[in-house]
Amino acid sequence: MEFVCRRCTHFTKTLYHVTTEDGGVVLLNMLVCHSCARAAKRLGLPAVKMEPAKTAVKANRVEAMTGSRSRFAVKSELV
Ligand SMILES: [Zn+2]
Repeated sequence: MEFVCRRCTHFTKTLYHVTTEDGGVVLLNMLVCHSCARAAKRLGLPAVKMEPAKTAVKANRVEAMTGSRSRFAVKSELV
């Protein structure tokens, strides 16, 4: 099963979960492909590889929770 990266919109079989928090507030909660996860790590963001079995459920939840392209997108344009 393939998923669409939330950042570059490429199809990927391996999803990475990138999150950032500041004072307990989630600033970023995003599912991305391997290359975007590497980019996130270069920016100092945690990127956790997701298990395929859990991905579908979490992906839906993230979709509902976020909807905004936050700091990650802004930062990566500067790189
Ligand atoms: Zn990507």
